[in-house]
Amino acid sequence: MIQMDEKIQGIYQEVLKRNPGETEFHQAVLEVLECLGPVIVKHPNFADRKIIQRICEPERQIIFRVPWMDDNGEVQINRGFRVEFSSALGPYKGGLRFHPSVYLGIIKFLGFEQIFKNSLTGLPIGGGKGGSDFDPKGKSDDEVMRFCQSFMTELYRHLGEHTDVPAGDIGVGGREIGYMFGQYKRITNRYEPGVLTGKGLTWGGSLVRTEATGYGATFFVNEMLKARKDSFEGKICTVSGSGNVAIYTIEKIHQLGGKCVACSDSNGVIYDEKGLDLDLIKQLKEVERRRIEDYIKTHKHAKYIAKGNIWEIPCQVAMPSATQNEINGKDAATLVKNGCIAVGEGANMPTTPEGVKLFLEAKIAYGPGKAANAGGVATSALEMQQNAGRDSWTFEYTEKKLEDIMINIHNNCFETADEYGAPGNYVLGANICGFIKVANAMVAHGLI
Ligand code: NDP
Repeated sequence: MIQMDEKIQGIYQEVLKRNPGETEFHQAVLEVLECLGPVIVKHPNFADRKIIQRICEPERQIIFRVPWMDDNGEVQINRGFRVEFSSALGPYKGGLRFHPSVYLGIIKFLGFEQIFKNSLTGLPIGGGKGGSDFDPKGKSDDEVMRFCQSFMTELYRHLGEHTDVPAGDIGVGGREIGYMFGQYKRITNRYEPGVLTGKGLTWGGSLVRTEATGYGATFFVNEMLKARKDSFEGKICTVSGSGNVAIYTIEKIHQLGGKCVACSDSNGVIYDEKGLDLDLIKQLKEVERRRIEDYIKTHKHAKYIAKGNIWEIPCQVAMPSATQNEINGKDAATLVKNGCIAVGEGANMPTTPEGVKLFLEAKIAYGPGKAANAGGVATSALEMQQNAGRDSWTFEYTEKKLEDIMINIHNNCFETADEYGAPGNYVLGANICGFIKVANAMVAHGLI
């Protein structure tokens, strides 16, 4: 990683002071700022217009109360967030996360990352993120519905197809998007599919959106491997998590000839030497909403490791697809030691700074989340295009578009890293490439 120059160090200190306690946000900002020294040298007008300082300050932050009633008739109160970070390139775009760990620092880190990720897609979308500290786990369908309705009763006034268009993230899938869309429609008396993405296929959704993040991350790793004259063929892979991103990462790995032997949830790890049975995982997680532990009830040859660490299982390709900071320095060292040659991040910021440093030093193919997992939001933008044209595209056509977008992101990151004297460093390539486009738009729009 390049040493931060003094001016950028000063900007980072100011971010720390202005956003106390938001450690994930600090981490995300630091990772970008560390890469920007040479950009400022090439583009002195960015410094004159204080682009970096402005980009670190969200355009708007909304925090609201979400009261709802549980099945026992008891009142519950959660906190809702929407951080509208940057509209330099288009309407705010980014998912909603429902997880008990959610607080402003998490939403700001995700929103900040989203600015550059969305820029990398080449599509006209700004960056935002939202969510709540609501925990959908163990809640009935009706409870989830009442929560979503209350959440949208505040959020709707901030949304619009040209203003802000949320999607899913951890804890928010098709069911939650459906309840929120229904409430939006009811309050506004308008059928506006362009206001949310990740919708169901019969009411404005896009084919491939469900698969997009996992497929896209796997396409990205495939390109990194190709750049090294290699492929997925016969590679042993591990994928953390067993949610939306993990499931479709496993699916695409298998389609490309790899063998995925392990996945996880927050309770433990499944190891299946024969290769994971994805149909069973889909049934358990998508249909029955059960825990991954139940995999071994029918597959006795597999192992369940309660509270296990998936990164200790030897693999050639690792694809973290659960949550932030799930690979620390020690895990990264273990992966490299065990012969891992590629890491592609389906999750957002799943590797700690120590882990990232280790991957870069080991010169393995390391695809950071903001580039590797951009396929989800890119396909959301394709959903918006279909909504605007009152159209719906075939699976094959949409998947091809997704693949082309991922190849393009890969090549842009690869070439930018080369141009800035750090060949093979996709972190630097993604941060610089994503930043420059946003910065140029901000200069063009004047001081706003
Ligand atoms: P899901 O809610 O569908 O699945 C999340 C998975 O990760 C679950 O298996 C969950 O286990 C596990 N997990 C979540 N939090 C933790 C935690 N704190 N510790 C351990 N395991 C955890 O979410 P997604 O698959 O949609 O999201 C996964 C990651 O991908 C996130 O980082 C998200 O930001 C990122 N992402 C998602 C996109 C999308 O389109 N959905 C787009 C781009 C990035 P458990 O059930 O036990 O909680």
